[in-house]
Amino acid sequence: MDFVKRTIDLAMKNVEEGGRPFATVIVRDGEVVAESPNRVAQTNDPTAHAEILAVREACKKLGTEHLTDCDFYILASPCPMCLGAMYYCSPRQVIYITTREDYAPFYRDDRKYFELDTFYAEFNKPIDERRMPMIQQKSAEAIKVYQRWKELNAK
Ligand SMILES: [Zn+2]
Repeated sequence: MDFVKRTIDLAMKNVEEGGRPFATVIVRDGEVVAESPNRVAQTNDPTAHAEILAVREACKKLGTEHLTDCDFYILASPCPMCLGAMYYCSPRQVIYITTREDYAPFYRDDRKYFELDTFYAEFNKPIDERRMPMIQQKSAEAIKVYQRWKELNAK
C-alpha cells in the first residue's frame, strides 16, 4: 500500500471537510494500525494534531506506550508538541512528506508566544528569555511525591 498517498488523501479529505491540512498514518508490518487527520478545527482542542490523535489510538489498540516497531507517515515535518510525543513513543522511523518551508506560503498558525518559524527556536532559549512567562514557585513538599513514588515502585 502507498502510505504516502494515504496520508495525503486523509489530509485532503479533512481540508474538504473544513479541517486543517495535516494527517498521520501509523503502520506496523505493512498494516495501518491507526490514522488521523488534524482535528483542531473540529474540536477546539489545540492538542488534536494528527500525530497526537494517531498515537493515542495506536497505543490504545496495541496496549503499549512504546511504538518501536511502527513507522509514522506524517504530511508535514512535526511541530514541537508532536515531535515530543513521537520521542515518547519511539517509532522505528518517521516519514515526513513536506517541510514547513514547503507549506509556509499557504498556511499560518501563529500564536501569542510563537510563529511557526520561531517555535523551535523558543525551546533553545533560557527559560527567562522565552516569550511565554514561566515562574518557579518552590516547595519542599513537592519532592515527597517523588520519594513516595520511589517507595512504591522500587524493585
Ligand atoms: Zn503537531
